[in-house]
Amino acid sequence: MEVPMPNQEKKSHKESLHDPFTNAVKQLEKVGEILNLESEIVETLSSPDNLIKVDVPVEMDDGSVKTFKGFRSQHNDARGPYKGGIRFSPQVNESEVKALSMWMTWKCAVADIPFGGGKGGVEVNTKELSKEEIERLSRSYIRQIHKHIGPDQDVPAPDMYTTPEIMAWMVEEYSDLVGKESPAVITGKPIEAGGSQGRTEATGQGGVYVLNRLSEKRNLDPENTSVAVQGSGNVGYYFATLAAQEGYKVVALSDSKSAIYNKDGLNVKKALDYKNEKGSYEGFNGGKQINNNELIELDVNVLVPAAVENVITEDNADKVKAEYVIEMANGPVTPEADEILRRKKTLVVPDVLANSGGVTVSYFEWVQNKEGKEWSKEEVLGKLKDKIVPAFDKVWDTMESYDTDMRMGAYILAVSKVVDAMK
Ligand code: GLU
Repeated sequence: MEVPMPNQEKKSHKESLHDPFTNAVKQLEKVGEILNLESEIVETLSSPDNLIKVDVPVEMDDGSVKTFKGFRSQHNDARGPYKGGIRFSPQVNESEVKALSMWMTWKCAVADIPFGGGKGGVEVNTKELSKEEIERLSRSYIRQIHKHIGPDQDVPAPDMYTTPEIMAWMVEEYSDLVGKESPAVITGKPIEAGGSQGRTEATGQGGVYVLNRLSEKRNLDPENTSVAVQGSGNVGYYFATLAAQEGYKVVALSDSKSAIYNKDGLNVKKALDYKNEKGSYEGFNGGKQINNNELIELDVNVLVPAAVENVITEDNADKVKAEYVIEMANGPVTPEADEILRRKKTLVVPDVLANSGGVTVSYFEWVQNKEGKEWSKEEVLGKLKDKIVPAFDKVWDTMESYDTDMRMGAYILAVSKVVDAMK
């Protein structure tokens, strides 16, 4: 038997600082103190109700079978069925899905939609798979977890590297397994497969409604408000596009390997089209080539991390010059960085509010599926605005009345609602 070396057993200080679940629990404990919650409640909320771990076998194109690790974490369903995305990424692990499922519980409470929190994922690099292999992976994952999900039990959706098409395969597989058409089991489907108008741009659109409301609160004038967006996936793409349409000066954009900056404002459409065509911003001549670390430290009014967790940490938080950070990714600012930003009076709009547009429109999709309705895009986006602006105001008011920051304001609001429902 191999005896682990002590330093292999324990996570390094840095690793545990950036462990998403440790961070999520730390945030919860802080709210527990502020709200004077019983320790049993904090303890119950500190771990998911269920953690499902599965092997996901996939037949590869060459006939071999590869097995991937799959997860579904169901954090809390006191307010309604578990709800949250499924990500396909090499970084997926137990800690990550557990943290993300807890954040979904808070997000659904802040967004005021009748769901709890869940999140799933498969540890896989889809860039190395063919389309057919991704389809077989998606179907296999559903075969493994289908007993644990359902329209009134747990409702998955897209997340990093999963698409509406993938959701359609998953719903089809689920419906075959249970022997009846079940569109409401998964949201974020293509329109033809029962998806909702407006779901694709919902997260980015919700973020721009949040930015507009922040601008009203702080008297920001869009033309003179510079915005740097990190990430060009679904969320970054629509946030940047819609913010530019609203007249904000989007000065920087990035993807995982490249970044561009133009202090006078980028032509966002041109830049995004270029990236879609060439696969990166390298060689784009409408701005200066920078890197992702430089993007975080740009002298801008609003910084929008819209990619992955832990991009603003104790190592670079001091160098952030933006006055506002809008968290469009989940968990981009670590608790240590949060402290530093608070001391610097940088206002952080937390993920559970800023990116809640996605799950809010998922809720609208679920309602339409259940009621056999089809709402227009205007109707959907109008309803989104009617949900997210009051959510922003409630978080803002809670922040002011508790004399805290926006993240704690959001958590105080969310945890109180969940605890009430549990009782
Ligand atoms: N994956 C998205 C999120 O993190 C959307 C979840 C959903 O629509 O259920 O909020």
